[in-house]
Amino acid sequence: MKIVRTIADASGLPTCDGTVGLVPTMGAFHEGHLALFRAARAENDVVVASLFVNPAQFGANEDLAAYPRDEERDAAVAAEAGVDVLFAPGADELYPPGFQTWVEVEELGSRLEGEHRPGHFRGVATICLKLFNIVRPDRAYFGQKDAQQVAVVKRMVRDLDLDLGIRVVPTVRDADGLALSSRNAYLSPKERERALALPRALATKDLAQARARLNGLDVDYVEVADFEPSVLAAAVRVGKTRLIDNVILDKEPA
Ligand code: AMP
Repeated sequence: MKIVRTIADASGLPTCDGTVGLVPTMGAFHEGHLALFRAARAENDVVVASLFVNPAQFGANEDLAAYPRDEERDAAVAAEAGVDVLFAPGADELYPPGFQTWVEVEELGSRLEGEHRPGHFRGVATICLKLFNIVRPDRAYFGQKDAQQVAVVKRMVRDLDLDLGIRVVPTVRDADGLALSSRNAYLSPKERERALALPRALATKDLAQARARLNGLDVDYVEVADFEPSVLAAAVRVGKTRLIDNVILDKEPA
């Protein structure tokens, strides 16, 4: 696996030799990331993973500085999973002095997560468009765990006529039901026990029941979101850790 740090090196990939799959990530790899790498590996000739903790998608009071970073371990994990190229740029490479152009997915990006994390999806959409332009993938891979991110990216692809496919990989969970997340590392054993209320509430696939089960927790939202497909989505805070999760709602029988 090649590690590249500049836009020039990430753009000079042998894209003429078949298809390229891109997996955008912020690192601290777990089985959720591995599922994306495997999906990309299964249907592309070249697999590129980006590793970039994107400052633009963190709010002023969020965990940018504390976000888990271990590039050496991530590189070993990615290589083992069959990633061909790891694009791990510094912040100045992607946001050079004078940077001032942003992608705003207005309505989809301002609800739910967007309401609680103003500017988050502007940062997400902008970095994804930049990565798409740099790597020029045929397909990009995202996790259903971040259902609104998927909806925002798909909307941007349609609205800006981008020529790539968006693939969505099911949420990978631990045995106890908690969706894997790099942020789970912040949880103490006791907090983790409390966090299990989130997947348990969502597993009811019923808004009223989910609300009742989350009663007493610090809930940012629990809502049915009409993404494609519709999901029951929630965000809760357990101690200092903010967790999001969702379940796909089955279609009503015709
Ligand atoms: P992150 O590094 O947290 O930005 O995540 C990179 C990609 O992995 C995003 O598309 C996430 O939706 C996806 N992802 C994160 N956690 C999971 C999970 N538990 N299952 C499936 N995909 C995930």
